[in-house]
Amino acid sequence: MADCLFCGIVKGDVKAEVVYRTPTLLAIKDINPQAPVHVLVIPTQHVESLNEVDDAELLGDLLMAAREVARQQRIDVRGYRVVLNTKAESGQTVPHIHVHVLGGRAMHWPPG
Ligand code: 5GP
Ligand code: ZN
Repeated sequence: MADCLFCGIVKGDVKAEVVYRTPTLLAIKDINPQAPVHVLVIPTQHVESLNEVDDAELLGDLLMAAREVARQQRIDVRGYRVVLNTKAESGQTVPHIHVHVLGGRAMHWPPG
């Protein structure tokens, strides 16, 4: 989709540090990390948010990739947080669905 930042990253027009990739998604380091490990899992297909997903397989792929990234980044045993912000009030700033994988430090609850 034109003017979408993450579509630009998927196409290679916008630079990003890719840490994991499958035919349907890629995982990149967040430009403004909120933890020692902060990776975004992004489907190659443009879908605005969780509200617009009609493909359960896509959601499964995103979560399996989040788990794979956690293993690869060695935060799987100590623990990690997977976040999927949806629409404005949650804090979603990029309208192309993505899953945050955060770890490498103790997380707090409730989240802010
Ligand atoms: P959201 O707030 O929509 O859940 O998450 C968007 C995330 O994208 C934020 O954590 C933000 O730091 C990250 N981000 C925004 N622009 C860029 C960029 O150009 N490159 C990368 N790698 N991450 C970005
Ligand atoms: Zn997009």
